[in-house]
Amino acid sequence: TGSVVTLGETMALLSTPPWGRVTGGSALPVGIGGAESNVAIGLARLGVPCTWISRVGDDALGDLVVREVRAEGVRVLARRDPEAPTGLMLKELRGGAPRRVGYYRRGSAASLLSTSDIDERVVGAAAVVHLTGITPALGPGPREAIDRVVELARSAGALVSFDVNHRAALWSPAQASPVLARLAAAADVVFAGPEEAALLLGREPVDEPGFDLGEELARAVARTGPRTVVVKLGALGSLAFDGGRVHRAAAVPVTAVDPVGAGDAFVAGYLSGAVAGAAVPECLRLGNAAGAAVCAVPGDWEGFPTREELDAAPGRAEVVR
Ligand code: ATP
Repeated sequence: TGSVVTLGETMALLSTPPWGRVTGGSALPVGIGGAESNVAIGLARLGVPCTWISRVGDDALGDLVVREVRAEGVRVLARRDPEAPTGLMLKELRGGAPRRVGYYRRGSAASLLSTSDIDERVVGAAAVVHLTGITPALGPGPREAIDRVVELARSAGALVSFDVNHRAALWSPAQASPVLARLAAAADVVFAGPEEAALLLGREPVDEPGFDLGEELARAVARTGPRTVVVKLGALGSLAFDGGRVHRAAAVPVTAVDPVGAGDAFVAGYLSGAVAGAAVPECLRLGNAAGAAVCAVPGDWEGFPTREELDAAPGRAEVVR
Protein backbone atom coordinates (compact mmCIF):
# COMPACT_ATOMS: atom_id res chain seq x y z
CA THR A 1 0.00 0.00 0.00
CA GLY A 2 1.28 3.46 -0.92
CA SER A 3 0.96 6.53 1.23
CA VAL A 4 -1.39 9.48 0.95
CA VAL A 5 -0.51 13.14 1.47
CA THR A 6 -3.17 15.78 1.98
CA LEU A 7 -3.22 19.51 2.67
CA GLY A 8 -5.80 21.82 4.23
CA GLU A 9 -7.29 23.70 7.15
CA THR A 10 -8.58 22.07 10.31
CA MET A 11 -10.48 24.08 12.87
CA ALA A 12 -11.44 23.57 16.46
CA LEU A 13 -15.14 22.74 16.64
CA LEU A 14 -17.48 23.74 19.45
CA SER A 15 -20.99 22.28 19.65
CA THR A 16 -23.83 23.94 21.51
CA PRO A 17 -26.16 22.10 23.88
CA PRO A 18 -29.17 20.44 22.21
CA TRP A 19 -31.34 23.51 22.80
CA GLY A 20 -29.10 25.38 20.40
CA ARG A 21 -28.20 28.44 22.41
CA VAL A 22 -24.97 29.58 23.98
CA THR A 23 -25.70 30.97 27.42
CA GLY A 24 -23.47 31.76 30.36
CA GLY A 25 -22.18 28.58 31.90
CA SER A 26 -23.07 26.42 28.87
CA ALA A 27 -20.73 23.52 28.33
CA LEU A 28 -19.55 23.44 24.69
CA PRO A 29 -17.91 20.11 23.89
CA VAL A 30 -14.80 20.73 21.83
CA GLY A 31 -13.62 18.70 18.88
CA ILE A 32 -11.93 19.33 15.56
CA GLY A 33 -13.04 19.37 11.95
CA GLY A 34 -11.54 19.82 8.51
CA ALA A 35 -12.32 17.94 5.31
CA GLU A 36 -8.73 16.96 4.52
CA SER A 37 -7.79 15.84 8.04
CA ASN A 38 -11.10 13.95 8.14
CA VAL A 39 -10.01 12.03 5.04
CA ALA A 40 -6.54 11.49 6.53
CA ILE A 41 -8.07 10.12 9.76
CA GLY A 42 -10.41 7.91 7.74
CA LEU A 43 -7.46 6.51 5.79
CA ALA A 44 -5.35 6.01 8.93
CA ARG A 45 -8.17 4.00 10.51
CA LEU A 46 -8.09 1.83 7.40
CA GLY A 47 -4.36 1.26 7.82
CA VAL A 48 -3.17 3.60 5.06
CA PRO A 49 -0.08 5.67 5.95
CA CYS A 50 -1.12 9.28 5.73
CA THR A 51 0.42 12.74 6.10
CA TRP A 52 -1.54 15.95 6.68
CA ILE A 53 0.12 19.30 5.87
CA SER A 54 -1.29 22.48 7.39
CA ARG A 55 -0.64 25.55 9.49
CA VAL A 56 -2.18 26.25 12.90
CA GLY A 57 -1.87 29.06 15.41
CA ASP A 58 0.67 28.89 18.20
CA ASP A 59 -2.25 28.64 20.61
CA ALA A 60 -4.30 26.21 22.67
CA LEU A 61 -6.63 25.33 19.77
CA GLY A 62 -3.61 24.63 17.57
CA ASP A 63 -2.37 22.22 20.24
CA LEU A 64 -5.78 20.55 20.23
CA VAL A 65 -5.91 20.16 16.44
CA VAL A 66 -2.40 18.76 16.18
CA ARG A 67 -2.89 16.38 19.09
CA GLU A 68 -6.22 15.01 17.84
CA VAL A 69 -5.08 14.41 14.26
CA ARG A 70 -1.85 12.85 15.48
CA ALA A 71 -3.71 10.66 17.98
CA GLU A 72 -5.53 9.10 15.03
CA GLY A 73 -2.24 7.92 13.56
CA VAL A 74 -1.81 10.63 10.93
CA ARG A 75 1.63 12.19 10.43
CA VAL A 76 1.13 15.91 11.05
CA LEU A 77 3.30 18.53 9.35
CA ALA A 78 1.74 21.72 10.66
CA ARG A 79 3.77 24.85 11.18
CA ARG A 80 2.84 26.96 14.22
CA ASP A 81 2.09 30.52 13.20
CA PRO A 82 2.70 33.00 16.05
CA GLU A 83 0.90 35.77 14.15
CA ALA A 84 -2.43 34.12 13.31
CA PRO A 85 -4.93 32.03 15.31
CA THR A 86 -6.26 28.55 14.72
CA GLY A 87 -9.68 28.69 13.04
CA LEU A 88 -12.84 27.87 14.95
CA MET A 89 -16.29 26.52 14.06
CA LEU A 90 -19.41 26.71 16.19
CA LYS A 91 -22.03 24.10 15.45
CA GLU A 92 -25.43 25.16 16.73
CA LEU A 93 -27.50 22.09 17.37
CA ARG A 94 -31.24 21.92 17.71
CA GLY A 95 -32.47 18.67 19.19
CA GLY A 96 -29.09 17.17 18.37
CA ALA A 97 -29.20 18.08 14.63
CA PRO A 98 -26.98 20.83 13.19
CA ARG A 99 -29.07 23.99 12.66
CA ARG A 100 -26.37 26.49 11.77
CA VAL A 101 -22.60 26.48 11.64
CA GLY A 102 -20.64 29.64 12.42
CA TYR A 103 -17.13 29.95 11.01
CA TYR A 104 -14.39 32.01 12.66
CA ARG A 105 -11.65 31.35 10.15
CA ARG A 106 -10.92 34.58 8.31
CA GLY A 107 -7.27 35.45 8.88
CA SER A 108 -6.62 32.04 10.44
CA ALA A 109 -3.17 30.49 10.37
CA ALA A 110 -4.25 27.99 7.71
CA SER A 111 -5.53 30.78 5.47
CA LEU A 112 -1.88 31.92 5.36
CA LEU A 113 -0.62 28.54 4.12
CA SER A 114 1.96 29.09 1.41
CA THR A 115 4.38 27.24 -0.82
CA SER A 116 6.89 27.49 2.05
CA ASP A 117 4.75 24.98 3.98
CA ILE A 118 5.19 22.35 1.27
CA ASP A 119 7.97 19.82 1.76
CA GLU A 120 8.95 18.62 -1.72
CA ARG A 121 10.27 15.29 -0.53
CA VAL A 122 7.11 14.48 1.37
CA VAL A 123 4.85 15.23 -1.59
CA GLY A 124 7.26 13.53 -3.99
CA ALA A 125 7.14 10.30 -1.98
CA ALA A 126 3.33 9.98 -1.96
CA ALA A 127 1.37 7.47 -4.02
CA VAL A 128 -1.73 9.67 -3.79
CA VAL A 129 -2.05 13.40 -3.15
CA HIS A 130 -5.53 14.42 -2.01
CA LEU A 131 -6.74 18.02 -2.34
CA THR A 132 -10.04 19.81 -1.93
CA GLY A 133 -11.74 22.90 -3.29
CA ILE A 134 -11.79 24.40 0.21
CA THR A 135 -8.06 25.20 0.25
CA PRO A 136 -8.02 27.51 -2.81
CA ALA A 137 -10.97 29.41 -1.31
CA LEU A 138 -8.93 30.34 1.77
CA GLY A 139 -6.68 32.89 0.06
CA PRO A 140 -3.92 33.45 -2.47
CA GLY A 141 -1.24 31.68 -0.38
CA PRO A 142 -3.21 28.43 -0.05
CA ARG A 143 -4.04 28.63 -3.75
CA GLU A 144 -0.36 28.82 -4.66
CA ALA A 145 0.42 26.03 -2.20
CA ILE A 146 -2.14 23.74 -3.78
CA ASP A 147 -0.83 24.52 -7.28
CA ARG A 148 2.68 23.67 -6.10
CA VAL A 149 1.48 20.37 -4.65
CA VAL A 150 -0.20 19.46 -7.94
CA GLU A 151 2.99 20.28 -9.83
CA LEU A 152 5.16 18.19 -7.47
CA ALA A 153 2.69 15.30 -7.52
CA ARG A 154 2.62 15.37 -11.32
CA SER A 155 6.38 15.25 -11.68
CA ALA A 156 6.63 12.46 -9.08
CA GLY A 157 3.93 10.44 -10.84
CA ALA A 158 1.56 10.45 -7.85
CA LEU A 159 -2.18 10.08 -8.36
CA VAL A 160 -3.87 13.47 -7.85
CA SER A 161 -7.23 13.21 -6.09
CA PHE A 162 -9.54 16.23 -5.90
CA ASP A 163 -12.76 16.57 -3.93
CA VAL A 164 -14.63 19.64 -5.21
CA ASN A 165 -16.06 20.40 -1.75
CA HIS A 166 -17.60 23.72 -2.78
CA ARG A 167 -18.06 25.98 0.27
CA ALA A 168 -20.62 28.65 -0.51
CA ALA A 169 -19.70 30.53 2.69
CA LEU A 170 -16.18 31.16 1.39
CA TRP A 171 -16.78 32.28 -2.18
CA SER A 172 -19.49 32.74 -4.78
CA PRO A 173 -20.20 30.17 -7.51
CA ALA A 174 -18.89 32.66 -10.07
CA GLN A 175 -15.57 33.01 -8.21
CA ALA A 176 -15.29 29.31 -7.43
CA SER A 177 -16.27 27.74 -10.74
CA PRO A 178 -13.18 28.55 -12.85
CA VAL A 179 -10.72 27.77 -10.03
CA LEU A 180 -12.39 24.46 -9.16
CA ALA A 181 -12.69 23.54 -12.85
CA ARG A 182 -8.97 24.14 -13.36
CA LEU A 183 -8.04 21.92 -10.39
CA ALA A 184 -10.48 19.20 -11.46
CA ALA A 185 -9.00 19.22 -14.97
CA ALA A 186 -5.51 18.75 -13.50
CA ALA A 187 -6.57 15.83 -11.27
CA ASP A 188 -6.64 12.11 -12.00
CA VAL A 189 -9.65 11.39 -9.79
CA VAL A 190 -12.39 13.93 -9.10
CA PHE A 191 -15.06 13.52 -6.39
CA ALA A 192 -18.17 15.66 -6.70
CA GLY A 193 -21.79 15.83 -5.73
CA PRO A 194 -24.15 16.49 -8.65
CA GLU A 195 -24.38 20.19 -7.74
CA GLU A 196 -20.62 20.43 -7.67
CA ALA A 197 -20.24 18.65 -11.00
CA ALA A 198 -22.67 21.18 -12.47
CA LEU A 199 -20.62 24.00 -10.93
CA LEU A 200 -17.43 22.66 -12.55
CA LEU A 201 -19.20 22.72 -15.90
CA GLY A 202 -20.57 26.24 -15.37
CA ARG A 203 -24.13 24.87 -15.46
CA GLU A 204 -27.17 25.83 -13.42
CA PRO A 205 -27.74 23.87 -10.18
CA VAL A 206 -29.44 20.53 -10.74
CA ASP A 207 -32.55 19.26 -8.97
CA GLU A 208 -33.52 15.71 -8.06
CA PRO A 209 -30.23 14.18 -9.15
CA GLY A 210 -30.17 10.43 -9.70
CA PHE A 211 -27.87 7.92 -11.37
CA ASP A 212 -28.74 8.97 -14.94
CA LEU A 213 -28.07 12.65 -14.39
CA GLY A 214 -24.99 11.79 -12.31
CA GLU A 215 -23.66 9.72 -15.17
CA GLU A 216 -24.21 12.49 -17.69
CA LEU A 217 -22.41 14.97 -15.42
CA ALA A 218 -19.54 12.54 -14.78
CA ARG A 219 -19.02 12.02 -18.50
CA ALA A 220 -19.02 15.76 -19.11
CA VAL A 221 -16.49 16.43 -16.31
CA ALA A 222 -14.26 13.61 -17.60
CA ARG A 223 -14.10 15.35 -20.97
CA THR A 224 -12.31 18.25 -19.21
CA GLY A 225 -9.36 16.04 -18.21
CA PRO A 226 -9.60 13.63 -15.26
CA ARG A 227 -9.45 9.93 -15.97
CA THR A 228 -11.91 9.08 -13.22
CA VAL A 229 -14.93 11.10 -12.10
CA VAL A 230 -16.80 9.88 -9.04
CA VAL A 231 -20.26 11.29 -8.31
CA LYS A 232 -21.57 10.92 -4.76
CA LEU A 233 -25.35 10.52 -4.69
CA GLY A 234 -26.14 10.56 -0.97
CA ALA A 235 -28.66 7.90 0.06
CA LEU A 236 -28.66 6.51 -3.51
CA GLY A 237 -24.96 5.60 -3.46
CA SER A 238 -22.32 6.60 -5.99
CA LEU A 239 -21.08 6.12 -9.51
CA ALA A 240 -17.81 6.44 -11.36
CA PHE A 241 -16.98 7.19 -14.96
CA ASP A 242 -13.55 5.69 -15.44
CA GLY A 243 -11.56 5.20 -18.60
CA GLY A 244 -14.72 5.11 -20.72
CA ARG A 245 -16.79 2.81 -18.47
CA VAL A 246 -19.53 3.61 -15.98
CA HIS A 247 -19.84 1.83 -12.65
CA ARG A 248 -22.83 2.34 -10.40
CA ALA A 249 -22.93 1.28 -6.76
CA ALA A 250 -26.05 1.32 -4.60
CA ALA A 251 -25.74 2.76 -1.09
CA VAL A 252 -25.52 0.54 1.95
CA PRO A 253 -28.91 1.03 3.67
CA VAL A 254 -28.63 2.69 7.10
CA THR A 255 -30.74 4.83 9.38
CA ALA A 256 -29.05 8.17 8.82
CA VAL A 257 -28.57 10.07 12.08
CA ASP A 258 -26.00 12.66 10.98
CA PRO A 259 -24.94 12.70 7.31
CA VAL A 260 -22.22 15.33 7.84
CA GLY A 261 -18.87 13.75 7.15
CA ALA A 262 -20.26 11.08 4.82
CA GLY A 263 -18.50 12.68 1.86
CA ASP A 264 -15.10 12.64 3.57
CA ALA A 265 -15.60 9.07 4.76
CA PHE A 266 -16.58 8.08 1.23
CA VAL A 267 -13.36 9.58 -0.15
CA ALA A 268 -11.28 7.83 2.53
CA GLY A 269 -12.92 4.49 1.72
CA TYR A 270 -12.50 4.97 -2.03
CA LEU A 271 -8.84 6.04 -1.77
CA SER A 272 -8.04 3.16 0.61
CA GLY A 273 -8.97 0.92 -2.30
CA ALA A 274 -7.15 3.01 -4.89
CA VAL A 275 -3.79 3.01 -3.03
CA ALA A 276 -4.02 -0.75 -2.69
CA GLY A 277 -4.58 -1.12 -6.43
CA ALA A 278 -8.25 -2.16 -6.19
CA ALA A 279 -10.48 -1.85 -9.25
CA VAL A 280 -13.01 0.99 -9.43
CA PRO A 281 -16.10 -1.07 -8.41
CA GLU A 282 -14.32 -2.20 -5.24
CA CYS A 283 -13.27 1.41 -4.52
CA LEU A 284 -16.92 2.48 -4.83
CA ARG A 285 -18.02 -0.32 -2.51
CA LEU A 286 -15.50 0.78 0.11
CA GLY A 287 -16.56 4.42 -0.30
CA ASN A 288 -20.26 3.63 0.08
CA ALA A 289 -19.64 1.44 3.12
CA ALA A 290 -17.56 4.11 4.85
CA GLY A 291 -20.07 6.86 3.98
CA ALA A 292 -22.97 4.82 5.34
CA ALA A 293 -21.10 4.01 8.56
CA VAL A 294 -20.57 7.71 9.27
CA CYS A 295 -24.24 8.56 8.55
CA ALA A 296 -25.35 6.06 11.14
CA VAL A 297 -23.68 7.88 14.06
CA PRO A 298 -23.33 11.50 15.24
CA GLY A 299 -20.06 13.38 14.60
CA ASP A 300 -18.23 14.29 11.41
CA TRP A 301 -15.39 11.79 11.63
CA GLU A 302 -15.54 10.08 15.00
CA GLY A 303 -17.61 7.24 13.53
CA PHE A 304 -15.23 6.43 10.66
CA PRO A 305 -14.95 2.67 10.36
CA THR A 306 -11.86 0.60 10.99
CA ARG A 307 -10.47 -1.84 8.43
CA GLU A 308 -12.24 -4.78 10.12
CA GLU A 309 -15.59 -2.97 10.18
CA LEU A 310 -15.28 -1.94 6.55
CA ASP A 311 -14.24 -5.38 5.35
CA ALA A 312 -17.35 -6.80 7.00
CA ALA A 313 -19.63 -4.29 5.26
CA PRO A 314 -21.99 -5.43 2.50
CA GLY A 315 -22.56 -3.88 -0.92
CA ARG A 316 -21.11 -4.26 -4.38
CA ALA A 317 -20.88 -2.23 -7.57
CA GLU A 318 -22.13 -3.26 -10.97
CA VAL A 319 -20.75 -2.26 -14.33
CA VAL A 320 -23.61 -0.80 -16.30
CA ARG A 321 -21.83 -0.19 -19.57
P1 ATP B 1 -21.21 15.68 3.32
O1 ATP B 1 -22.52 15.74 4.07
O2 ATP B 1 -20.15 15.03 4.13
O3 ATP B 1 -20.81 16.96 2.67
P2 ATP B 1 -21.46 14.82 0.57
O4 ATP B 1 -22.61 15.69 0.15
O5 ATP B 1 -20.10 15.13 0.12
O6 ATP B 1 -21.50 14.62 2.15
P3 ATP B 1 -23.06 12.45 0.09
O7 ATP B 1 -23.38 12.11 -1.32
O8 ATP B 1 -24.13 13.02 0.95
O9 ATP B 1 -21.74 13.32 0.10
O10 ATP B 1 -22.55 11.15 0.85
C1 ATP B 1 -21.36 10.49 0.46
C2 ATP B 1 -21.60 9.01 0.40
O11 ATP B 1 -22.00 8.53 1.68
C3 ATP B 1 -22.70 8.59 -0.57
O12 ATP B 1 -22.19 8.47 -1.89
C4 ATP B 1 -23.12 7.27 0.04
O13 ATP B 1 -22.22 6.25 -0.32
C5 ATP B 1 -22.99 7.52 1.53
N1 ATP B 1 -24.26 8.01 2.08
C6 ATP B 1 -24.66 9.30 2.24
N2 ATP B 1 -25.89 9.38 2.75
C7 ATP B 1 -26.31 8.09 2.93
C8 ATP B 1 -27.51 7.48 3.45
N3 ATP B 1 -28.55 8.21 3.87
N4 ATP B 1 -27.55 6.13 3.47
C9 ATP B 1 -26.53 5.37 3.06
N5 ATP B 1 -25.37 5.88 2.56
C10 ATP B 1 -25.26 7.22 2.49
